[in-house]
Amino acid sequence: MEIIKHLHQLALLHQWRKSGNTIGFVPTMGHLHEGHGALIKAAKQWNEKVIVSIFVNPTQFNDPLDYANYPKTLEKDRDQCLAWGVDALFIPEENHIYPPRTNIEGWTLNLPGLTDCLEGLHRPGHFSGVARVIMKFLNLIEPHDIFFGEKDYQQACVIRQLIDDLFFPVTVRTIPTIRATSGLALSSRNSRLSSKEQEEVTVLFKTLNNLKHDFEQGEDNLESRCNKASEDLVQAGFSVDYVALRSAHDFKPFTLMHREGVILAAAYYNAIRLIDAVTFMRK
Ligand code: AMP
Repeated sequence: MEIIKHLHQLALLHQWRKSGNTIGFVPTMGHLHEGHGALIKAAKQWNEKVIVSIFVNPTQFNDPLDYANYPKTLEKDRDQCLAWGVDALFIPEENHIYPPRTNIEGWTLNLPGLTDCLEGLHRPGHFSGVARVIMKFLNLIEPHDIFFGEKDYQQACVIRQLIDDLFFPVTVRTIPTIRATSGLALSSRNSRLSSKEQEEVTVLFKTLNNLKHDFEQGEDNLESRCNKASEDLVQAGFSVDYVALRSAHDFKPFTLMHREGVILAAAYYNAIRLIDAVTFMRK
């Protein structure tokens, strides 16, 4: 496995391309778990070569404490990538991605209906930061495919829209959320929860899964069921940012005219912010 720390080392990818290989790219912020492993597995199925980035992107954090506390386990992550069969690990320094000449604040993305709601509303600037770093990586890596998890459903929709708008020659592929047996979506931030808390927060997934069940069985009171779910989460000790419904394809607000939807939620449990998304299909 190649370790790429400096941008010029990415020249290696030209060799890969010249030899007729397709390149799959999996962007991450590290502290890798089986969710990242599943993305890498998918990337290996679609492409001959797989490159993974580990970069805790400062511009996507709206909370400086969250950024400062983001778990960093580079050595373990490197061993994990080796074991998963990754071909190259890209671990750039912050000042290579954001050289001193760049204005770290000065880049805003506004896609009405996509970046100004849910995560975009509760984490101002978040999607601008995500989009900024992904666009940089796409220009540096020029992958054939880029892989995202459905846990961050809105993020995948934002990037898909941006790539489509700007004619980036890359295919966005998403994979279903990987969960612990309890149902909890695997997340790097879960390590900040005690094992007791990890058990308690499974209420989040169970609540979304109950909604999925009801909507698939023909429940029509979409808004009131979401409000009730939100109240149930508050009862269970969460501080809820949102429980919302969107059309799975275009992320428009879900109506009874739609068939395939996604239930999205974000909530704090003891100051740890959790997000989850569950797709459903009405008959
Ligand atoms: P992160 O390292 O948290 O920025 O995540 C990197 C990529 O992994 C994103 O595309 C996430 O959506 C994806 N991801 C994170 N957790 C999971 C999970 N439990 N299942 C599937 N994909 C995930």
